[in-house]
Amino acid sequence: MSHYDVIVIGLGGMGSAAAYRLAQRGQRVLGLDQFAPVHNLGSSHGGSRVTRQAYFEDPAYVPLLLRAHELWAGIERDSGRKIFTRCGGIMLGGPDSRTVSGSLASAREWDLPHEILDASEVRRRFPTMRPEDHEIALYEENAGFVVPEGSVAAHLQLAARAGADLHYEEKVLSWQQTSTGVRVGTAQNFYTAEQLVICPGAWAPRLLTELGIEFTVERQIQYWFAPSGGAGPFRAERHPIYVWEGEHGRQFYGFPSHDDAGSVKVAFFRGGETCTPETIDRTVHAEEIGGISEFVGRKMPSLPGGFLRAATCMYTNTPDEHFVISRHPTHDRVVVACGFSGHGFKFVPVVGEVLADLVVDGTTDHPIALFDPARLTGVAR
Ligand SMILES: Cc1cc2nc3c(=O)[nH]c(=O)nc-3n(C[C@H](O)[C@H](O)[C@H](O)COP(=O)(O)OP(=O)(O)OC[C@H]3O[C@@H](n4cnc5c(N)ncnc54)[C@H](O)[C@@H]3O)c2cc1C
Repeated sequence: MSHYDVIVIGLGGMGSAAAYRLAQRGQRVLGLDQFAPVHNLGSSHGGSRVTRQAYFEDPAYVPLLLRAHELWAGIERDSGRKIFTRCGGIMLGGPDSRTVSGSLASAREWDLPHEILDASEVRRRFPTMRPEDHEIALYEENAGFVVPEGSVAAHLQLAARAGADLHYEEKVLSWQQTSTGVRVGTAQNFYTAEQLVICPGAWAPRLLTELGIEFTVERQIQYWFAPSGGAGPFRAERHPIYVWEGEHGRQFYGFPSHDDAGSVKVAFFRGGETCTPETIDRTVHAEEIGGISEFVGRKMPSLPGGFLRAATCMYTNTPDEHFVISRHPTHDRVVVACGFSGHGFKFVPVVGEVLADLVVDGTTDHPIALFDPARLTGVAR
């Protein structure tokens, strides 16, 4: 039985970053994942993830985003991989929509560079978009997108280089805190360590039952289209990422074209069926493709030209859609990072840094009070 300073369960978006930051800080790390590296069965695949700083979800996220943007640059430099493209971002909707008013509140509170555009200015600058006259937009030059597979691969590469042992296709069946440390049982082996970090993605309900949080795993679909008239106006040099809030608060979002094939990705934000990693329907049906084509086509007429492909993915939602990043309330050698509620990827490198702080220093200077599970369970640590 091998003994480590820390075991990281889950080597997806968050766990790969935790394994790297812990190994970088001199910890003897074992990372375990049930699947092969950079797989497409969890939440960290599909070629692109929005990143933005004027955060409508809550201004408390902004300092973490400022740090994440610094850290992506270091990860790119150290791994030699391109991960972040700064193409600008546009948050669209009615002036009172959460997307617009919440983004503006964050931008003002943190003095983030931004512009407010009326509908005609949006149509002039971004001719793919047809907002209605009453809609407005917040434009943010520092927004863009990151490549999730590139991030996971880079963090795993850097973790291994810093000395982490990374085991793939080794499923964790049990974990316990003992009187002297932690013990993890997999399908192949038992391991012990001083501390444990659990980054389980959509498997949180299974691995973190004792947290007492009601997670809802939600099926989501990413769609790729070939715009009618070609991808030219959608290229990243000319086109921002966007989040657009339509009728009844329904948001959709999308990306510029950034592959050689000229495909353009678009998706609804939320509103998926409840599922589990075992029961998720990974087939995307014709009526779903028809539904998004019709909805998006009203706002961006050239976008849903030819349908190319679609892929499912999972959100793991907490009841208030804020993250859980904390020491485990009842196991003081265990740190958890879960419930990223469909908006976690843009935080990956800073979550890695926070988790390493919690393990090595016992505390972090990053502002994570919003992510305390006590807000959901009423159980204080
Ligand atoms: C369609 C879609 C679009 C999104 N868009 C955005 C976006 O634009 N911007 C943004 O910021 N965020 C976005 N997100 C959210 C973001 O991608 C997630 O918050 C993030 O990927 C979660 O990372 P994770 O490490 O928690 O989960 P994962 O990357 O899924 O990692 C969890 C890992 O744990 C492993 N694991 C679980 N149980 C076990 C076990 N028993 N034994 C061993 N290993 C185990 C799994 O195999 C997996 O590798 C999106 C998510 C989806 C699905």
